[in-house]
Amino acid sequence: MLLVSEPNLGDDEKAALAEVIESNWITMGERVRAFELAFAEAHGAMDAVAVNSCTAGLHLALEALGIGPGDEVLVPSLSFVATANCVLYCGATPVFVDIESLDEPVLARSEAADKCNSRTRAVVVMHYAGAVVDGPAWRDFADRRGLALIEDSAHAVGAERGEIFGDAAVFSFYGNKNMTTGEGGMVIAPDPDVMDRVRHARGHGLTSSTIQRLAQRAAMYDVTMLGYNYRMTELSAAIGLVQLRKLPAWNSKRGSLTAAYRAVMERLCPEVIIPFSGQRNSSQRKSSHHILPAILPCGANPMAAMAALRDDGIQTSMHYPPIHSLAFYKERFPGVRLPLTEDFAARELTLPLHPKMEPSDVECVVGSLARHLGDDERNDGANGR
Ligand SMILES: *Cc1c(COP(=O)(O)O)cnc(C)c1O
Repeated sequence: MLLVSEPNLGDDEKAALAEVIESNWITMGERVRAFELAFAEAHGAMDAVAVNSCTAGLHLALEALGIGPGDEVLVPSLSFVATANCVLYCGATPVFVDIESLDEPVLARSEAADKCNSRTRAVVVMHYAGAVVDGPAWRDFADRRGLALIEDSAHAVGAERGEIFGDAAVFSFYGNKNMTTGEGGMVIAPDPDVMDRVRHARGHGLTSSTIQRLAQRAAMYDVTMLGYNYRMTELSAAIGLVQLRKLPAWNSKRGSLTAAYRAVMERLCPEVIIPFSGQRNSSQRKSSHHILPAILPCGANPMAAMAALRDDGIQTSMHYPPIHSLAFYKERFPGVRLPLTEDFAARELTLPLHPKMEPSDVECVVGSLARHLGDDERNDGANGR
């Protein structure tokens, strides 16, 4: 079976884990710190805070930026549910915003502007498929209105995108992301005060960590705020350090596989849209090429395509069921209508993309999709449609 995504783990990660076990220091030690600094450097930042998931990081970032009850936060609905959940964790209200277009499935700025009111305090942008959104435009959008700007960068790990433009950017190391630590996340904020608040809240608001108390022979700690246990283990950080070294080569392989998908799709299935098609001509648009979304022609059924490709040994998935259509959210926020997000989700199929693939796999996948869509068309003809 060709899988949609696969972690890349091997002897280097095993050796790194063995070292941690031999060291007998299993959580929040020197490897976590080394991972933070290495990750920050790879993303053009001075510092980073490691956490045990991107979800935890989004929660801490919103809280550190002062988001709380009564506040509204603009969010995409075309994202993983964590993007909206973290707003609810803070007691604030997510306000769902549509995407720009099928080819540009990221938060639409004009609609975001229309949905602003006196309660709006922040906007969360998500770099769908790893394609970094227009930083200067969003920075300007937030600054004009006095909003906090948060980047859900779960897809954009290692996108080589230059400086973080958000007030915080939060990354994910879940098993299907571009690099993994099993579970894990990282927060980068340009303002050192925000970083301090995130770091502090990560460990229950304690004034010192276990390793600091050992080094400084300090016996006691104090607690100065309501914090959480969002700490990262040394085991995760050790894997992260190894994965981070391999990330540039993996992302560049993802980039060439994406280019191959575009070329083969144009040849075999010209009616299928691969978003960010303008990207080919723009050196500005940075991407980590996290996933390969394909928008099927109007009327084609992604579930049928999914079944047909599975019969050919190809796994596919969908990114995403819109958050506003999930039962929990539909009940709490009834009547949300986002036509482009809904159209995108009804036609989207995510094709396999990971660095273990070769261009011949791309030919197989697109060939299988082309055969299926061709069959579909012939059946429609026979049914007199
Ligand atoms: C994976 C993902 C998250 C959550 O990441 P975790 O590390 O699993 O908490 C959040 N947002 C997006 C867009 C994601 O893809």
